[in-house]
Amino acid sequence: MSTSAAGYVFRPSTLEGIREVLTLARRTNRSVGFRGAGRSYGDAAINAENIVLDLTRMNRILDWNPKTGLVKVEPGVTIKQLWESILPDGWWPAVVPGTMFSTIGGCVSMNIHGKNNFTLGPFGDHILEFELLTPEGEIFRCSRDENYDIFRSAIGGFGMLGCFTSIKLKSKRVWSGLLDVEAINVPSLDAMFDCFKERLESADYLVGWIDTFAGGKSLGRGVIHRANYIDQGIDPNPAQTLRVEHQQLPDTILGILPKAILWKFMKFFINNPGMRLINMIKFRASRLLDRGGTFRQSHAAFAFLLDYVPNWEKSYGKGGLIQYQSFVPKDEAREVFRKQLQLCKTYKYPPYLAVFKRHRPDEFLMSHALDGYSLALDFKITKRNRERIWKLAAEMNKIVLKASGRFYFAKDSTLSSEDARAFLGEKALEEFAVMKRRLDPSGMLETNLARRLFGTS
Ligand SMILES: Cc1cc2nc3c(=O)[nH]c(=O)nc-3n(C[C@H](O)[C@H](O)[C@H](O)COP(=O)(O)OP(=O)(O)OC[C@H]3O[C@@H](n4cnc5c(N)ncnc54)[C@H](O)[C@@H]3O)c2cc1C
Repeated sequence: MSTSAAGYVFRPSTLEGIREVLTLARRTNRSVGFRGAGRSYGDAAINAENIVLDLTRMNRILDWNPKTGLVKVEPGVTIKQLWESILPDGWWPAVVPGTMFSTIGGCVSMNIHGKNNFTLGPFGDHILEFELLTPEGEIFRCSRDENYDIFRSAIGGFGMLGCFTSIKLKSKRVWSGLLDVEAINVPSLDAMFDCFKERLESADYLVGWIDTFAGGKSLGRGVIHRANYIDQGIDPNPAQTLRVEHQQLPDTILGILPKAILWKFMKFFINNPGMRLINMIKFRASRLLDRGGTFRQSHAAFAFLLDYVPNWEKSYGKGGLIQYQSFVPKDEAREVFRKQLQLCKTYKYPPYLAVFKRHRPDEFLMSHALDGYSLALDFKITKRNRERIWKLAAEMNKIVLKASGRFYFAKDSTLSSEDARAFLGEKALEEFAVMKRRLDPSGMLETNLARRLFGTS
């Protein structure tokens, strides 16, 4: 909601329909930007005054093999549709983002990561094959054995090379609908890093939450959630826990308050005093509850925390929010994140949500990942603070780039063209430009993000 624009939206439900829109774009001399569920935080799926090709009606599951865990889908299938279809057979998507409403096309295009990026890599690591329709009307089948150069450029290629029309993925075998979860209270940023290091080898998922209002010795304090799959034979009733009904997030909070209206109450807390209070309560409650044990939680409840509150983003008010996520090599991350948190304090703009993750490098050309950590910071945007937040982001960028860090287009609203070029490097940019000229020679594919960072083609 911090960025918006009007465009001409088309929602084809067939390959022929997509071709018709591409023909129309050529005839009317308009650019085309693809859109999945629009769950990217910035302007990645917006195309002002031009054509927005919404893929959400291309949402058929084309093939599912419960013996091998291989699934073939159209791009508009959501993560929700996917896990609901495969879990009863004992499979879970290998990598999921923090919301189940993203589409598979959107996830491939951004090469999303989950809370298990350090062990299972990004979404792209689990794609066996896809079909890509270019603006010229050609379809390329791409895999690690066929058209590999397109494969590694289009995954994470932010919709600039063509439209994914079908995607074949492999899923992860699970023996229970539950995970073993441990919540660990950590008193400082150093403790957060140390605890991640200790748990890294033994965890299937790790994610940290930081109380951004704490300062001094407590700077970076928070809670880590570690989760592990349950081995075969441990869950006494897997047929029950693997059922979709068993995963559903409850409709009410504490059995009373309907979730659907929760965002209206949250509105009163989405300000500095309110969020300071909530952060403090969350941290103290986790300290009281941290008894060193584990508890069981469903896959959906662990993976999709924010989906608990429908329309949560509305609680931020008309100006919406942005997320600023930076990725920093492991040896530099402590210092970089300390500086970022301090800088937010200097500017007096504490992020209202801060999430910490561990990553590993991958094979994809425009990758945001590296052997290190990421910190994602949510900022409420208003007319008054907008300019200053962009200035704060620019200062944080400098610190990240100095440490050879990276950024992520799914979360970006504030990068300058120079910063984007600096983190990607001339070699990758040139390779991507060559691919762009080959697959989209007329430069038809564009979005607001692409124009902001790289100009028109
Ligand atoms: C609450 C929340 C939590 C999130 N958690 C995470 C997380 O943990 N990890 C993470 O990595 N991300 C996370 N995200 C970001 C989100 O998962 C990604 O931005 C994802 O790409 C969104 O998918 P979408 O279907 O909404 O795509 P959109 O946002 O609509 O589009 C994303 C990009 O994909 C392109 N695109 C869409 N469909 C196609 C297609 N068929 N062919 C070619 N290009 C296409 C678009 O042009 C655009 O560039 C989160 C977002 C939210 C709102």
